[in-house]
Amino acid sequence: MVKAIVGACWGDEGKGKITDMLAADADIVIRFQGGSNAGHTIINDYGKFALHQMPSGIFNPNTVNIIGTGVAFNVPYFVKELNYLKENGLENPKVLISDRVQLMMPYHIAFDTYEEARLSDKQFGSTKSGIAPFYSDKYAKTGIQICDLFHEDVLKERIESACQVKNVLLEHLYHKPLLDPEAIYEEVLGYRDLVAPYVVNTVEYLNQALKEGKTILLEGQLGALKDPDHGIFPMTTSSSTLAGFAAVGAGIPPHSIEKVYTVAKAYSSAVGGGAFVSEIFGDEAQELRVRGGDAGEFGVTTGRPRRMGWFDCVATRYGCMLQGTTDVAFTAIDVLSYLDEIPVCVGYEIDGVVTKEFPVTPLLEKAKPVFEVLPGWKTNIRGITKYEDLPENARKYVEFIEKEIGYPITIVSNGPKRSEIIYR
Ligand code: GDP
Repeated sequence: MVKAIVGACWGDEGKGKITDMLAADADIVIRFQGGSNAGHTIINDYGKFALHQMPSGIFNPNTVNIIGTGVAFNVPYFVKELNYLKENGLENPKVLISDRVQLMMPYHIAFDTYEEARLSDKQFGSTKSGIAPFYSDKYAKTGIQICDLFHEDVLKERIESACQVKNVLLEHLYHKPLLDPEAIYEEVLGYRDLVAPYVVNTVEYLNQALKEGKTILLEGQLGALKDPDHGIFPMTTSSSTLAGFAAVGAGIPPHSIEKVYTVAKAYSSAVGGGAFVSEIFGDEAQELRVRGGDAGEFGVTTGRPRRMGWFDCVATRYGCMLQGTTDVAFTAIDVLSYLDEIPVCVGYEIDGVVTKEFPVTPLLEKAKPVFEVLPGWKTNIRGITKYEDLPENARKYVEFIEKEIGYPITIVSNGPKRSEIIYR
């Protein structure tokens, strides 16, 4: 059985908690895209952890955690995360790394910083983790695969050739110090012994596991609106955030994915620039941000305050459609308990016409939210585990949204802890 856990909108929907829970009975958890640019927060018996690159099944002693081929793999970060987990009582984390995964190179991070500086007020709000330069190199075929570390001649030649082009840009576009291929080679070669115990042919491993009927979780990063093909381009990320890509980024058959859990938060938040139709501002936003403090409304990677907004049915319906959702996990509904009334965005008005279809970016910039206002429930709902025990208005909120987005909400999360969950 293969399940994917992915985000409906901009990310930060609470995928970490849902993955951590579903990982409890998973044999394998895989990261299939992205890098150390986004973070998951997990609260469990070991404490509270911000994971960036490590798959969320890492806390389960029986789960094998895999860094899939689609990931932008940052070795120093990986080592740091591994040590951080070991220091916090996790004795023997089980991790495997795809032998074809590509390496985040020191110059990717430098280029990310230089390019954002060059773009100045037109910058993307990158986390400067090197993600865009990394994926650019991958598709320009100048990336470095982890297997190259074990073939010194190949590694040397590939680094030299990558540096040639980069040095032209450094000299003439960015006016920054040039790269020394020899020094980079030495630095990167130093990664070899650190990763060697973990590098395997994960495709063979996974396909064997499938034959044995193992339970596999595919763990997505960010959300559908950050997908470079279908999202709010160009304010997207640089690798696909969709469940469909999970098959590619992990190396398993597309038809093996039986369940797609799309995580949607009961209100909206976003980091970085780009249109955000249901966005709210000022005191109203600050109150929601602070109330949603547990829901990490300050970025895990950057600590930046997130942009806040009401739930957006247009964006979420589109995101769920792209993901091929079988189940929606609806999170952080407890955060809304302070409100007398809760606006929900049910349509976009563009040039005087109301639509429920998520538009292309130039039209998205013009869209104004059409809100419907639902009554609040004004009582603490944390820890309730039966759907029927939720206040009527909380149930009405869930059911209203379920109808608008057109996908079944089968999980409702009403707090950051594992136990704060309702299965419908
Ligand atoms: P991800 O990027 O989608 O994985 O989002 P995170 O895992 O970073 O989740 C964001 C935050 O929401 C974390 O601090 C979680 O502990 C918290 N969280 C998850 N589910 C809930 C929930 O149902 N209620 C509240 N209040 N917080 C939640």
